[in-house]
Amino acid sequence: MKNTDNPILVEYLRLFEDLLSAGVYSLEQDKKEALLLPVLNQLHQLHQLQNDEYRNIVKQHSADAKRIEELPYLAVRLFKHLNLKSINEKEVFKTLQSSGTTSQTPATIYLNKQTSARQSKVLVKILQQTIGKQRLPMLIIDSPDILKKPEFSARAAGIQGLAFFGRDHTYALDENMQPNWPVIEAFCQKYAEQPVLIFGFTFMVWLYFIKALQNNGKTISLPNGILIHSGGWKKLVEQQVDNVTFKQTLMATTGISKCFNFYGMAEQVGSVFVECSQGHLHAPIFADVVIRDPFTLKESAMGETGLVQVLSALPSSYPGHSLLTEDLGVLKGVDDCLCGAKGKYFAIKGRLPKTEVRGCSDTHSEASS
Ligand SMILES: [Zn+2]
Repeated sequence: MKNTDNPILVEYLRLFEDLLSAGVYSLEQDKKEALLLPVLNQLHQLHQLQNDEYRNIVKQHSADAKRIEELPYLAVRLFKHLNLKSINEKEVFKTLQSSGTTSQTPATIYLNKQTSARQSKVLVKILQQTIGKQRLPMLIIDSPDILKKPEFSARAAGIQGLAFFGRDHTYALDENMQPNWPVIEAFCQKYAEQPVLIFGFTFMVWLYFIKALQNNGKTISLPNGILIHSGGWKKLVEQQVDNVTFKQTLMATTGISKCFNFYGMAEQVGSVFVECSQGHLHAPIFADVVIRDPFTLKESAMGETGLVQVLSALPSSYPGHSLLTEDLGVLKGVDDCLCGAKGKYFAIKGRLPKTEVRGCSDTHSEASS
């Protein structure tokens, strides 16, 4: 089907342009919602039209929502059990597996070319706010083998997405996930005096880079480095490593003072929530967050911990625009963060106990050893 054949898709694409031309963090919540809600309503209509499962699940919510909180949401684990796609088989451009281990059921996300391109474009737009527009020499805390695996994992997708911001891409780990010290040291020597980008998944950066340096009595010097990391904190919480400890140990072993975590779902690649200078995760213009009481699913008050619902303006090939995650979080404020960014800001507090552990970067099986 051509874009022009479907009036809902045409309207969605038109409204999405308004988001692209707005500032990523510059609109206050009410002005942001005035742009974002119509996009999310179009996606809701589009997926009802093109996806039988979605239509059946949300059938009590056929009308447009008046507030973001009124939009129906899917439990994120549904993507593990159903083939949720809103496009024809021949339109599938690539599939993304949210989990790579055999012990867990992976979720499969179906992307057409348009959604995939939109994800890349938005990821760049959001991360440029933090990293800047210049392509920096890039140290990737992973093994180059990750990109060679046949299944396209969320980890590989993350690296590929971030690689856009870098040049001279250098992999810090060998095929056994051990630090490749000669490579790391050569990188640090070559770029000691200039800004560099370091990227990896949170627990891998911690275990195979920061802790590895510490355990080997090594330090490196990248005082102009920016570390961007993502993925769950679950493994680090088990080792009692919080964000403050992470940053302090990073500073002590590498001299890196700019360290930003981002939160995002494999089911919503592209629309990520990036940590600001105040340590808060911010919702960009393309996404939003609602915290819900785990028992009643009603909206939680500010400051109350609840389940995190994430909304994204991006997915038109699968119904992933409104998802209830299994993560616990807390809304910290709206429009008034000291960093100057507008909209909602929040923190992640862990995961709902006794749920199936979700994959992503958390699936590297040797991490617990
Ligand atoms: Zn902030």
